[in-house]
Parts: sequence; C-alpha cells; structure tokens
Amino acid sequence: MDIKLVPTICPYCGCGCGLNYVVKDEKIVGVEPWKRHPLNEGKLCPKGNFSHEFIHRDDRLTTPLIKKDGKFVPATWDEAISLIASKFTEMKAKYGPETMACFASARSTNEENFVMQKFARVAIGTPNIDHCARLCHGTSVAGLAKTLGSGAMTNTITDIKDSKLVFIIGSNTLEDHPLVGRSVIRAKESGAKIIVCDPRFNMTAKQADIYVPFKSGTDVALFNAMMYTILSEGLENKEFIKNRTKGFDALKEEVMKCPPEWAEPITGVPADTIRKIARMYATSGASSILFAMGITQHATGTDNVVSVSNLALICGMIGRPGVGINPLRGQNNVQGACDMGCLPNVVSGYQAVINDELRKKYAGLWNVADLPNKVGLTIVETMNAADEGKVKGLYIMGENPMVSDPNVNHVKHALEKLEFLVVQDIFLTETAELASVVLPAAAGPEKQGTYTSTERRVQLLRPAVKPPGQAKADWEIICSIAKKMGVKGFDFNSAKEIFQEVAKVTPQYAGMSYERLEKPEALHWPCPAADHAGTPILHVPKFSHPDGLGILFGVPFKPPAEVPDAEYPLVLTTGRLLYHYHTGSMSRRSHTLDAEVPTGFLEINPEDAAKLGVKDGAKVKVKTRRGEIEINAKVTPNIIKNHVFVPFHFWECSANKLTIDALDPFAKMPELKVCSCKVEVVPVE
Ligand code: SF4
Repeated sequence: MDIKLVPTICPYCGCGCGLNYVVKDEKIVGVEPWKRHPLNEGKLCPKGNFSHEFIHRDDRLTTPLIKKDGKFVPATWDEAISLIASKFTEMKAKYGPETMACFASARSTNEENFVMQKFARVAIGTPNIDHCARLCHGTSVAGLAKTLGSGAMTNTITDIKDSKLVFIIGSNTLEDHPLVGRSVIRAKESGAKIIVCDPRFNMTAKQADIYVPFKSGTDVALFNAMMYTILSEGLENKEFIKNRTKGFDALKEEVMKCPPEWAEPITGVPADTIRKIARMYATSGASSILFAMGITQHATGTDNVVSVSNLALICGMIGRPGVGINPLRGQNNVQGACDMGCLPNVVSGYQAVINDELRKKYAGLWNVADLPNKVGLTIVETMNAADEGKVKGLYIMGENPMVSDPNVNHVKHALEKLEFLVVQDIFLTETAELASVVLPAAAGPEKQGTYTSTERRVQLLRPAVKPPGQAKADWEIICSIAKKMGVKGFDFNSAKEIFQEVAKVTPQYAGMSYERLEKPEALHWPCPAADHAGTPILHVPKFSHPDGLGILFGVPFKPPAEVPDAEYPLVLTTGRLLYHYHTGSMSRRSHTLDAEVPTGFLEINPEDAAKLGVKDGAKVKVKTRRGEIEINAKVTPNIIKNHVFVPFHFWECSANKLTIDALDPFAKMPELKVCSCKVEVVPVE
C-alpha cells in the first residue's frame, strides 16, 4: 500500500495556504499540514482541512453532455468540441463577435484564465470577457488603480502581525479569511489595537478592542468624518502628503464639510467614537487597513475604496512594513484571474485594451491584425444584454451566476434567452443545468498550474490525482475548441508552456518561471526580471502612477441606490460563512462542512423581531422588489437594528433572489451589500 503526500495549494479562499494531500490508491484520503509553507505554517481552517471531500464525489462531471430535447445526453469530446466550434464560428459570422461573451473563473489557474481571455479576444474576437471579481473586488481594482496606480494588497498577510493598529472595515476576516485572521490575532497578541467597523458583531468584531457598528452603505461618510478629525487636529502626515501625493486641496475641501456630528445620524456611529478611532488610526505609528466586500459591493464601491486610500495616504500609512491597504480577495485565484486580463478593459498585467500601442503589442505576439479595441461588457451588463437579445452566445468556465449574481430571477431569464450556452465545471451547477453543452473540468488538486493569492504570491499547484472519467484541465478544453475553430496560437502542450507566454507578455510576471516558483515562498508580483526577488510590499519608494505620486480625491457621500421606505422598511445585507465557499458547489458537497451549516438563515435584531412577531427559528418570508425567499430566522443582537443578514451560499434560500443589480458607475459592481426588504412571518399550517 503506497501512501504519498503531495504539497499543493488549498482550492478554497484567496489566502493561498499550503497543504499536503494524502494520496492512497490514486485517491485523496486526507489532508496533512505543510509546515514549511511560509504563510500558514501547517495551520488550516475547516475548509482547507476538508478540501479533499468534494474531489471524489459520485456527482462529479465525467463526460461532456449535450442537451437534446431538454435533456442532457452524454457525448464524446469530439462531438462536444465539434458542436461548440461550429456553433461559435457560425454565430460569430451570423451575428458578429460582440454578440458573444466569455466568463473566466476565479477558481481556475492563471494559465487557464490567460488562455480564456486569449480565446475571447483572438478566437471569438469579442471584448466581452469578465469573471466574478466583478462581484467582489472590481471596485478595489478600479479605486486603487485610480489612487495608487495598482489595485492589489499593498502588503503581505504575515506583515499584518507587525501593525500597531489593524483597522478592519467590511471584512469578517476571521471567518472569511481565517489565515489572515491569524495574523490579526498575532498583531493583537503583540499589543496592536484592533478596530472593527461592521453592521454585524461578527467573529472578527468579537476580537476587537473597539467595535464600531454602523449602517450598511455609509462608509464614505464615516471616512470623511474620520479625516475631518485628523485634519482639524493636525494629525495628518504633512511630509508624506507633500512629497508623495497630489490632490490634497480637493480632498480637504470635501472632508471639511463632514464633521463627526454630521456623520453621526448618517452612519449611526456616535461623533465621539468617530473622533476616537480617527485619532487612534492616525497616531499608532503603523496602521494597516483590511477590507473586503463590505466596502466593495456597493453602487459607491469605488468611492468607498478611494476613501480608504485617502485615509491611508493623508496619514502616510503606506509603503512600509505594518501599514498599507489590504483588500482581501475572496476566491483562491481571483487575484490571478484579474492579473491575467479576464476583465473587459485590460489584457494581462492591467494593460488597457484602448491603448493602441499595448494592444498592437499583443496582436503582434498573437499573430492577429488587432484585438477588439473597446472595453467589453461586464458580468451584469452581459446578463442585461442577453435579456435584450444583444448577447446570444455565452461560454462560462467555472462560474455559477445562478447563485452568485444579483437579482438571479433576472439572471435565469437572461440565460434562458441565450441561443447557445456552454458551461465548463466540475459539477452540474445551477447554471450548468441551463446550458446547451456542459464540459467536465478537472478540479484544482487534479492539475498543474499556478494560483495568485490575495497577497500577490504566485504559487505552483502540484497534481495529486488524475481527473475523473474524461474530465480535463480547463486550458486543454479551451485550446481544443480554438484549434477546432482553426485558430492559431493555442498549441500548448502543458500549463508550463502557457506560463512562459504569460511571463513574456505580463510585466508583473516577467521574471517568473515554474523553476523559480518551486520553493514554498514562491514570488510576490511585481517580479520584472529573472534575477528580481519579487515585491512583498508595494509603493515603497513611489506609487505606480507615471509620476510616482499617490492621488487624493474629494469624495462626497451618496446614499445607497435603494433606501428603506414604508413598504420595504429594513436593510438587507449579505455575506459569507466560515464553513462555506461562494456558491456552495464545492463546500456543500463536503459532508463535514455541510453538516456544520446545512442551509441558510436570516439574522434579525431582537427589537425588529419583536415588532414583527418573529420568533427565533421561525420560518419567515423575505421580500424585495426583485423576489422573495422563505428562510428560518435567527434572532440575535449581533446584527444592528433595522438590518437583516442572509448568507449567499445557499440556492434554496438564495440571498441573490433579493439583491439589487444597481451598479457602481466606474467598476460596474452590483450593490450586493445593501437593498431594502420586508420580513413577514410564514404562518404555521
Ligand atoms: Fe484554504 Fe483559505 Fe482556509 Fe487557508 S484560510 S485553509 S486558503 S480556505
């Protein structure tokens, strides 16, 4: 009996923990610590510890499926690839390439995402390529690119332990990024103060020195009032502002309209608390900001991120150890999918598609006359266009918009209107059920490639087992379709060969190779040359704008797109849980994780519950202008008054049947974190 340990990277969240899969008889039978891994040093959260449980499930997709007369029929690869290639070619000629769109995947490897965006731009010729970063950190990328010139975590996860103050807003770090949470706790043990701002008294807030409950969607007001205090009391870092930033006058003009007393009724935070946390942040000596989707998933998400940046810049809390702005990316490779250019406005390395010179460089390398020279449609725009009949063909790799996207009743309608939908995944997801053709993909532990974690660490995956049945790596499938369409440039023989092309065309990855990534530390981008050691901390001597300066902006407060009224008097906010991951397609198929939290629930404050006659555990109906769900109530003081919370992992009580698809004007991020709802008791029959 042979047992082997295969060191690789956790397939769940963006922390990027290393683990060892225990392989026996060609099956993964368990997980063992990889103590040498520099981030997690052998520690794992429950998802990582049980990350093998979904791999060998009987319901894995093992063969291509073609829908005939409304039913899926197993097909050979040749049949499926021939059908897709001929249909894509025909639709491209008949309707034009812009009637087609591709969704890449934050769960697939860098190599697969790189090939997917190349497929969209070269094989189809469409600018419409996006992925679910649109739904989590699209506004981080837009906001930080605007202020710092680069939209990623400025510091590393382990660097957080050197902070003197950790300011966490809109992130349930200990539950959603447990191994980042470990660094927060280490900072606290070394004497750092922890401030947590959130409408929920969540697992992270329970560790805080100061917990600041505030109303969802009022972040800009809170930041402006904090900066009012800092500037009024002369606590700003004048030298940093003078030497390393521009735009201070515009910022000051806006901020000085926003005293804490003005912000108190908007945010629900007492003016004295705002002053206190502002002074603590500005004077700690080393303050780090962590944020996640509580900041980003708003129609003002880019404004929120710019406000985060404003605060850090005026206090000089950037470009050295223990400080920084740290957007915590959700999925294992959402950073990498963005880096690889799976966004409608940039090719890999955040190089703008509307820049003629950059686009021509790519076109030359890829042997085509030009690439689509316009910004394509984002995820929500694609769904709207599908609903209007303007997008007719969609190729989805490893995404499940039927659970992840806002207003899923509308998403279902849009997907059903498509002429041709291809879904490539490891399970028959709620979205795959609607497909014309389903393609079986290999899961993370079954393939080679790289993931880029939230801290910009590019890490090698090592295959532990073979994919089941006829399932293949995503890149192999995409290349087969491209080749069948007669398109050149997809003759890759391995993930390594694709990575070599990534390094050739992506400045941040230029100095990387599989050989250099073998060591557990791997490399943090940017790594511009083969002898460069990588860059754990960004913006040390200068920012990424051409003039090297950080930019400050005055940001006026705007209320959420939908505010409570007489008909819908409560604020609905959504989020994640420790035991589950995204749309639940993997974690809900892990019996250990599923047993912990088998379905969704609605958190409601005891005062609101009493007014509505809602008892703990009772079934309630939650309604918004877009849909309704039935769900069990959890009456708890952990959610502030006039707000309710629903986790979004569970399709049977889908939070996203309720959420609004109002968009941030810059990043086109939907406002998943706030809309108006009403709650009614469901009578017991
Ligand atoms: Fe996996 Fe994230 Fe848990 Fe680490 S913290 S074990 S990467 S799910």
